[in-house]
Amino acid sequence: MTTQLIEHDIARSDAARSDAARPGAAQDDSAAFDGVAGGGDQDESGRNARTLYQHGTLALLVPGLFDGTLSMGELLTHGDTGIGTGEGLDGEIVILHGTPYQVRHDGSVVVASDSFMLPFANAHWARFSPLCVFEDRSKAELSDFLLKTTGLDNTFFAVTVTGRFANMRTRACAKQSRPYPSLEHTAQQQRVFDAESTEGTLLAYYSPQVFNGVAVGGFHMHYLADDHTIGGHALDFHVDKARVAVQRFDTLQEHLPVANPRYLEHDFSSDDIAGAIASAES
Ligand SMILES: [Zn+2]
Repeated sequence: MTTQLIEHDIARSDAARSDAARPGAAQDDSAAFDGVAGGGDQDESGRNARTLYQHGTLALLVPGLFDGTLSMGELLTHGDTGIGTGEGLDGEIVILHGTPYQVRHDGSVVVASDSFMLPFANAHWARFSPLCVFEDRSKAELSDFLLKTTGLDNTFFAVTVTGRFANMRTRACAKQSRPYPSLEHTAQQQRVFDAESTEGTLLAYYSPQVFNGVAVGGFHMHYLADDHTIGGHALDFHVDKARVAVQRFDTLQEHLPVANPRYLEHDFSSDDIAGAIASAES
């Protein structure tokens, strides 16, 4: 069924490029769309593919609680796929096929060690279900398409968009030191990178709006080029042609940094969490 959907969309793309990957292209099959390949609850190694693991919250980054409170080695016991940031907002993390890449503030890409510490991260065991081939569409059009096609507005899901992007704009934060500034202040010092005609993987996590603050309500997207020439938190892009796959979750496993006194003692009542996320994460 999903393979046919891909072939169907490729045919549409070739026949009428401007009509390719419209929401209607996949809607006929949406009733059968289960969001996990084969409809299974486990990945190929029998690990839980329905749970999204998260360490920390977006809200704790807003006032500058940037202490690393989970090691990469520990994070990788909860998934082979994920995103995050390092201690002090040290760059942007993209975990693909079990390898944790760090896109640093200078634009370089390195593999993070097991001892690399993170204040915030998502991870899950990959079992993506192919959705379609997506062609000549903007970031906003991709977001609209995903929600209309999958009907998953009210649950968590992950998306990979793998292929060619006509342009890509990413950012990477610079590692801050204690006493940490706020998220907004740090985001103002981010480095922005632009590339044209880049091939790679965009990894996105969608969270329902009611979870804004726990996570980024809506889509949180990180990108890594195949040749590692550009990566980071995806600010904007235009898809040239790429395969889209989705994995639906029914459970959020939220892990909090209870061994961190600064987290336990912080009073969140005066933080403008929604406002800070909106300005720093988009
Ligand atoms: Zn990010």
